[in-house]
Amino acid sequence: MDTVEQPTPLRWAAPDVAWQRQLSQAIRDPDTLIKRLGLPAQALRGARDGHALFSICVPEAYLARMAPGEPNDPLLRQVLPQGAETDVTPGYVNDPLEEAEHRPAPGLIHKYAGRVLLIASPNCAINCRYCFRRHFPYGDNSPSRAQWQQALDYLRNDTSLIEAILSGGDPLAANDRQLAWLVEQLGAIPHLKRLRIHTRLPVVIPDRIDANLLAWLGATRLQKVMVLHINHANEIDDAVINACARLKQAGVTLLNQSVLLRDVNDDAATLATLSERLFEAGVLPYYLHVLDPVQGAAHFDVPDSEARTLIATLRQHLPGFLMPRLVREIPGEASKTPL
Ligand code: SF4
Repeated sequence: MDTVEQPTPLRWAAPDVAWQRQLSQAIRDPDTLIKRLGLPAQALRGARDGHALFSICVPEAYLARMAPGEPNDPLLRQVLPQGAETDVTPGYVNDPLEEAEHRPAPGLIHKYAGRVLLIASPNCAINCRYCFRRHFPYGDNSPSRAQWQQALDYLRNDTSLIEAILSGGDPLAANDRQLAWLVEQLGAIPHLKRLRIHTRLPVVIPDRIDANLLAWLGATRLQKVMVLHINHANEIDDAVINACARLKQAGVTLLNQSVLLRDVNDDAATLATLSERLFEAGVLPYYLHVLDPVQGAAHFDVPDSEARTLIATLRQHLPGFLMPRLVREIPGEASKTPL
């Protein structure tokens, strides 16, 4: 298998604030990760093979929530490359959601009625091994400010659009100057009502929710929704709870989407604990996605029949408002497809 294009280094990465410093100091090689957690050396070979295809990235704040010496830690399993990533699995592809078909302008994906997705940053603060964009050609979709005008013109000209979704990579990996400019431009488009931000950064580096971010987020007239990405209750520590509280104070509605992952969260008790912990943090469970069939991630798959049984069990333990919707994203469908 060819080595894939890696996410580019942060463009505006003068590490002058705490979260940027933490990101620049993230662990970026498997040897260090394995040594820091005191894991057996035999894990290294597969980790190096997987890392060659999709590089490792683990910030210290996330590492601190893993159990030392525990190779099956559910957070570690999300970020430690495996030899299985080199397997070529039939039905698994580089662009499982066929996003290449829906890009009318650089950095813009328009798949669903009423809303568009803007790739606000090609970078992430963590590299999740199951990521459906692990092969995404970010180099072609990292617009300059002049190119952003094309995307903004597209939004201005389509009055059916009511929601702009910032995605990535992770949109909050862009710096606040860039984001403040973009959100100001979006707020000036009269037919837009909502700003949605899909991000894992408040979970991975909770210090990302700082005064600079809250300033531009609080200033926009748009209604604000943030969809976090948390797969296991152990990801929610006090720092994450505090970050969520700051966001709620700024008028942000908080939702969560998870991915159903083999040996991470594929049992009802784990998912029930996650929903309860999310609610304690002021976040409502939204979606539980089955895995997108991205090449290199097949070892995380949970079959549909098992996923349905799991959800039925979960329903016996949780009130309806804590039940995530089990969905699959199917290319060409007008929305996520419930299972
Ligand atoms: S944070 Fe999201 S976009 Fe980034 S690697 Fe993880 S799943 Fe992919």
